[in-house]
Amino acid sequence: MTDLLNPTETGIATAARLLSEGALVAFPTETVYGLGGDARSDIAVARIFEAKGRPRFNPLIVHVADLDAARAVAVFDERAERVATAFWPGPLTLVLPLRPSARLSPLVTADLPSVAVRVPAHPVAQALFRAFGGPLAAPSANPSGKVSPTRAEHVMAGLAGRIAAVVDGGACAVGVESTILGLTDGPALLRPGGIPAEALEDCLGQRLEAGGDAARPNAPGQLASHYAPSAPVRLGVATPEPGAFWLGFGPGASSADLNLSPSGDLVEAAANLFHYLREADSRAAGPICVSPIPDKGLGRAINDRLRRAAAPRPPD
Ligand code: AMP
Ligand code: MG
Repeated sequence: MTDLLNPTETGIATAARLLSEGALVAFPTETVYGLGGDARSDIAVARIFEAKGRPRFNPLIVHVADLDAARAVAVFDERAERVATAFWPGPLTLVLPLRPSARLSPLVTADLPSVAVRVPAHPVAQALFRAFGGPLAAPSANPSGKVSPTRAEHVMAGLAGRIAAVVDGGACAVGVESTILGLTDGPALLRPGGIPAEALEDCLGQRLEAGGDAARPNAPGQLASHYAPSAPVRLGVATPEPGAFWLGFGPGASSADLNLSPSGDLVEAAANLFHYLREADSRAAGPICVSPIPDKGLGRAINDRLRRAAAPRPPD
């Protein structure tokens, strides 16, 4: 059951409580409806990927109430301060260095050292952020591969039964996604959107690079150093060889060194994945052997990530 909540004080309070319990709530922004989950909770963020049926763990945009809250999750330089002051709240997302003390789930950033952050202008989104009091990971509230929703009915049509609630704030004004500006290097237009590139160039006094590598942060090989443990990784291993580190999954792997989910729950496995890959790498004396993971639902995204971890990588 997915509740349709009115954007009243009571409705917003209910939405904030659900979010603090790790449940998912869709909410309106000025661009499209976002599918919100606590960006600090591994389980909540894993549920976002599950609800959307996303086949890979691409990084999500973190939504916050204001510039102060954004500074708590990302490191702002002078350029970032300038565009944020000019265009926030509004349809602009900044990709900036991640502030480790933010303690975001690594699933939000795809374990990257950067984070995408935005301050939406929509009054209902603003009210929800203030009631919830923390950062929300929020991709568009549609099943993967479908059109972005600009009304609560669209969200219901795609995700009813898969998420806890939708806050109904009417139709979205902009209807296209936020512009994504990369500022971890020279300023780069990572995605065109609600704020024109020319307005950003005027504000920065500088031309934007088109695309750039960060526009495809999940391209194979490109992020090898972030995805790949230094130990060799072997996938689909039911019975690991002696001396291997066993990263297990499910009840059949009760003697594994670490088990992504002893009960075989894919949401739990996704929530643990990045933490356990790092821990396995720090503890492994030989190869890391990973149990087979069913290739359905969230298992597809988990297997996609594991294949990247296991792929041969170029020499440094
Ligand atoms: P959305 O599906 O609207 O949430 O879009 C998120 C997009 O933001 C991704 O496809 C990435 O292109 C971009 N993005 C999010 N986080 C990062 C990041 N840490 N580094 C680079 N790009 C990012
Ligand atoms: Mg989308």
